[in-house]
Amino acid sequence: MHEQALRVLKDVFGYDSFRGRQGEIIERVANGGDALVLMPTGGGKSLCYQVPGLLRGGLAVIVSPLIALMDDQVATLDELGVAAAALNSTLDAEQQRQLAVRLRQGEVKMLYLAPERLVQPRMLSFLQQLDIALFAIDEAHCVSQWGHDFRPEYLELGRLAELFPDVPRIALTATADKRTREEIVNRLHLHDAERFLSSFDRPNIFYRILPKEQPRKQLLSFLAQRKGDAGIVYCLSRKKVDDVAAFLCEQGYPALPYHAGLPADLRAFHQKRFLNEEGLIMVATIAFGMGIDKPNVRFVAHMDLPKSLEAYYQETGRAGRDGLPADAWMAYGLQDVLMLKQMMQNSEGDERHKRVEQHKLDAMLALCEETRCRRQVMLAYFDEDLPQPCGHCDNCIDGVQTWNATEPARQALSAVYRTGQRYGVGHLVDVLLGKDNEKVRQAGHQQLAVFGVGKGMADGEWRTLFRQLVARGLADIDLEGFGGLRLTDACRPLLRGEQELELRRDTKPQVAARSSSGGSPASQLVRGEEREQWEALRALRRRLAEEHKVPPYVIFPDSTLLEMLRSQPRDLGDMAQVSGVGARKLERYGQAFLEVLAGGEAPAAQASPTDLRHELVSLARAGMTPAQIAGQLKCSEKNVYSLLAELIGEQQLSLEQALDLPEDLLMELQDAFLDGEGELPPVSEVQPLFASRVPDGVLHCVRAALLAEFEL
Ligand code: ADP
Ligand code: ZN
Repeated sequence: MHEQALRVLKDVFGYDSFRGRQGEIIERVANGGDALVLMPTGGGKSLCYQVPGLLRGGLAVIVSPLIALMDDQVATLDELGVAAAALNSTLDAEQQRQLAVRLRQGEVKMLYLAPERLVQPRMLSFLQQLDIALFAIDEAHCVSQWGHDFRPEYLELGRLAELFPDVPRIALTATADKRTREEIVNRLHLHDAERFLSSFDRPNIFYRILPKEQPRKQLLSFLAQRKGDAGIVYCLSRKKVDDVAAFLCEQGYPALPYHAGLPADLRAFHQKRFLNEEGLIMVATIAFGMGIDKPNVRFVAHMDLPKSLEAYYQETGRAGRDGLPADAWMAYGLQDVLMLKQMMQNSEGDERHKRVEQHKLDAMLALCEETRCRRQVMLAYFDEDLPQPCGHCDNCIDGVQTWNATEPARQALSAVYRTGQRYGVGHLVDVLLGKDNEKVRQAGHQQLAVFGVGKGMADGEWRTLFRQLVARGLADIDLEGFGGLRLTDACRPLLRGEQELELRRDTKPQVAARSSSGGSPASQLVRGEEREQWEALRALRRRLAEEHKVPPYVIFPDSTLLEMLRSQPRDLGDMAQVSGVGARKLERYGQAFLEVLAGGEAPAAQASPTDLRHELVSLARAGMTPAQIAGQLKCSEKNVYSLLAELIGEQQLSLEQALDLPEDLLMELQDAFLDGEGELPPVSEVQPLFASRVPDGVLHCVRAALLAEFEL
């Protein structure tokens, strides 16, 4: 069986060996046994049912909660030459009828469908007439009522056990905890399933957490070395999502916003673009998440603190599914804690629930101020033991300095106490530094014993200290008191002199910024001298993806392109050895990629005119200025303007998307063109009015927009 499985792996998927426990799992299911598979995102769960599906005769039925994911999987299988189909609401009656015919004739190997479809009585009896190879239940944690992805329809899937006693079932999830695991077994009737637990470590992700100082600047310096990489930037609020997305566009990064406040079709459009185009940055609230199967997300940046370690792990886990180096980066500050607490306070749920949430937040905060290896701490939280520090997180790489903060901490806590436990950090720091300002005077705080005792430390150092006191649970934010700090029981031993306090020293901002971009290797996938050929390979892939109407990674993942780049195959024989090149793809694409590798001058290496226009539309829609676009596409600004004018004329872009003109200037420009009677004057006539104020290109665009608008 193992031999056959390996052959399918190589012939169909183009891979040489199984990852982790894939081999065992496949063997178990192919031999007719049930399995419960817990594997982290990117671990390679799909192969665990796809290979046995192919090994066993008949139809593999895969239950998945997300339509977007189904389509992606079907497209991927199609490209591999495996007959697959998704049955969902996007099919009309006629299409469904045709699919039923194909299913009956045994022409389909894999069928994806949503749980509510599968459990319809008609569907079940239809399937009972077919030869079923296996049932795969993906995202099996959706059966858990305690999880945040609970889907009631999943509960009914337990019936499969009785209805199809001889068909093996495999349930898969990336949710690790014991409670969910037991729920899956019980509710899906998987008592006889063999359990396959993998490590939840994501070794290719580099973790970095730094204190928030000037978050946008910090984000930019993180992004500086990741130009052209796709990534996700998470923010807590919708407004912040919009602001950060706009800011990144201004700075020349193609970024798109995503949050629940945007119209559904725009959201879908942004998501689709993120999947289909390369190098886009999605700025999003956590509404953007499940169903993001894009394997080459190179980084996940958090501009705000997630509410738990579970959330942090899940969100950062969207980076680097392809196994190539990826970054998880986060800037966090005291303000985040305040915001999250407010959100919790306002959320529904009983006291017990809120207490649980509070504990989860505490664990998250503790990770931020952690002095040991981040990965060790995080895995320990998920009951997994990593014996050695990982060597692949900021703490391991930079080392952490600690200092004895006992005395300043006592002073800080005493400032909290003496001022009545209702002031925020700003005021407390002023008191400690002895600032004689109005607020201090009004409250009479210049009289306090703590007034001015903290002059030995800088403003920023005190703020850091307060943040750390909160993170350690020694002080707390009082929401009723408008976010002032108050003491907790945990700080008593420290105040009584029974306990010392050792704290992490913040690295200096410049140092932190530099090492955060230079220290981790994610973006250095390709070296300088390889860049040109890499881009040529990507351009070819992009063109093929457009032709086949699939995302680029469905043609080949980055890891496969990278291996081509490194191993430089010279003929189809060599090409077949490259991981990820199966028989079907070899036949379809092998030659084209060989040509790019051989010549570098193959026609595909240059962006075709349609490519260029396509790209330009994307960049303009993402809010980049013509100058930035010119930089990105390596062509003249004049060229960009004339293409923009063309695209506006064809109504592929609106003037607002193409250019960001102040309202009054726009009116002035339009008036200049519309002043005369009859036809619009040519640009040369209007130009003297604006000679040095606006580039000619702008005039061309405005004119094109007017023409399009009035269809003159
Ligand atoms: P998951 O569903 O667990 O998040 P996927 O099934 O999407 O993970 O697999 C993640 C990536 O790893 C995919 O690009 C897949 O093709 C690749 N992959 C899976 N198994 C192997 C393997 N044995 N060898 C090489 N690549 C693999
Ligand atoms: Zn580490």
